[in-house]
Parts: sequence; C-alpha cells; structure tokens
Amino acid sequence: PTHQQERHQVVKKYLQKVKSPPEEDCTICMEPLGGPSGYKGPGVGPVSKAESVGRLTQCGHQYHFQCLVAMYNNGNKDGSLQCPTCKTIYGVKTGNQPAGKMEYHVIPHSLPGHPDCKSIRIIYNIPPGIQGPEHPNPGKPFTARGFPRHCYLPDSEKGRKVLRLLLVAWDRRLIFSVGTSSTTGESDTVIWNEVHHKTEFGSNLTGHGFPDPGHLDNVLEELRAQGITEEDALV
Ligand code: NAD
Ligand code: ZN
Ligand code: ZN
Repeated sequence: PTHQQERHQVVKKYLQKVKSPPEEDCTICMEPLGGPSGYKGPGVGPVSKAESVGRLTQCGHQYHFQCLVAMYNNGNKDGSLQCPTCKTIYGVKTGNQPAGKMEYHVIPHSLPGHPDCKSIRIIYNIPPGIQGPEHPNPGKPFTARGFPRHCYLPDSEKGRKVLRLLLVAWDRRLIFSVGTSSTTGESDTVIWNEVHHKTEFGSNLTGHGFPDPGHLDNVLEELRAQGITEEDALV
C-alpha cells in the first residue's frame, strides 16, 4: 500500500461510520460536517461520501475524515491519533525527543518533604544535533543547553512508580521536545515537554524543587495526559 493508504488505514481504525452527520461544524476546519472538508492542502486523498465523516470510537467526537487525515499527516505519523477536542489518545502516542541517554541512581539523602526515604536522581543527557523530519525545522541544527540535567524523586513506593512511568515516557520520546524555550526564548533547542521535573534538590524558590506535596500526583496526571498510565508501570 502507498503511504496515503496506510495513513487512511490508521485513521479508519479509530473511527466508526456516521450515516447522517449532525448539523454541527467540524472543529478542525470549522465547516459543516454535512458538507465537504475545508482542508485545502495536499496529501489527504479523495474520500467517498459515505466515509466523509467519522466518529472516534472511544470519545464519540465527530470530524471530517479528511480533516483527521490532515491532522495525522501533520504529526509524527506514529500510528496514534489524539482527539483535538478532548485529548483522548488512540493507539500509543510518541513524541519527537532527540537521541540521548536517561540514567538514574539512588542517593542517600532525603528530599525536603520526604524525610523517611532516600532519593532518586535522574540524569538526562542529550547532545545537540540536526533536526529530523519530526522536528519544526528539518535539516537545521538544534542546541541542547544545560545538559546533563539532574532531576529528583523521593525513593518511595510512589516515587519509584513515577520513575517507571518516566522510563516509559523516555522510550516513547515524550520527556523532551525541540522548539522554543519559554525560559530563554531560544528557538531550535531542546526543551522540556509536558511532564514536569524537579531539577532542584534543596529548596523550592523556583518552583522546580522540593518540598511540593502535590508533585507526584501532578506528574502522574501529566503522564496520563500523554497516554502513560499505571498499567504501563507493571510491564
Ligand atoms: P522551557 O523554559 O521552555 O519550559 C518548558 C517547561 O519546563 C515548563 O513547564 C517549565 O515550567 C519547565 N521548566 C523551566 N525551567 C525549569 C527548570 N529549571 N527545572 C525544571 N523544569 C523547568 O524549557 P527549557 O528551556 O528546557 O527549560 C529551561 C531550563 O533548562 C533552565 O531553567 C535550565 O535549567 C535549563 N537550561 C540551562 C541552560 C544552561 O546554559 N545552563 C540553558 C537553557 C536552559
Ligand atoms: Zn473538517
Ligand atoms: Zn474526543
């Protein structure tokens, strides 16, 4: 099959047929679901009238089929799809984190707020490189500032669970991304993705340290939003 047929197959896998589209607009292109997709770009291919609108199987949100294909083509084409309305993830979401290394070890000190256990130190190291097709400016270099970056978790049951999920997130390339740093304003650089890390051990003056009683639950929630759940920690 061609790339286009494969991409149609991926999108179709997550859709149910819609016989009569509701009198609503598609929230991707803002055109009525009863009419054609407003997407005007290349790469989506033709679609029969019967398949012009689909309903996502889990969340039920409806879109033009061609709008979903255009959205899929815009992403990293990893076989997963995310509902743009409610963020439900279909398949396994992956990111565009550049190549690098994630290591961790236990250190014999307690974090503020976690007096009864030792701590886990995670060390991320990503070298600068050249952007791939999955990045904002393919072929252009990207910088990588402040690496190795050190992060901390309590070595508690919950902290170890978060670590196991972060290892899954790393394998799925979801911890870092390439883009513009909101801290420094630098573009084409490695930046944290949507999962918050604690890069300071001893105080929380910056908001990136301890104590922070809600931190582990926040991270679990942020991981869930990336499609990584506690079941992923069991395997
Ligand atoms: P960013 O500034 O675009 O922010 C993305 C996310 O990371 C946001 O949620 C933000 O709250 C969080 N974040 C920002 N600073 C953080 C920090 N120090 N610790 C933990 N989370 C942080 O992302 P970015 O550019 O990757 O992060 C900026 C941080 O990266 C700097 O504070 C610094 O730690 C490091 N850095 C170091 C150098 C250096 O030359 N040493 C240069 C650039 C960035
Ligand atoms: Zn549409
Ligand atoms: Zn939805």
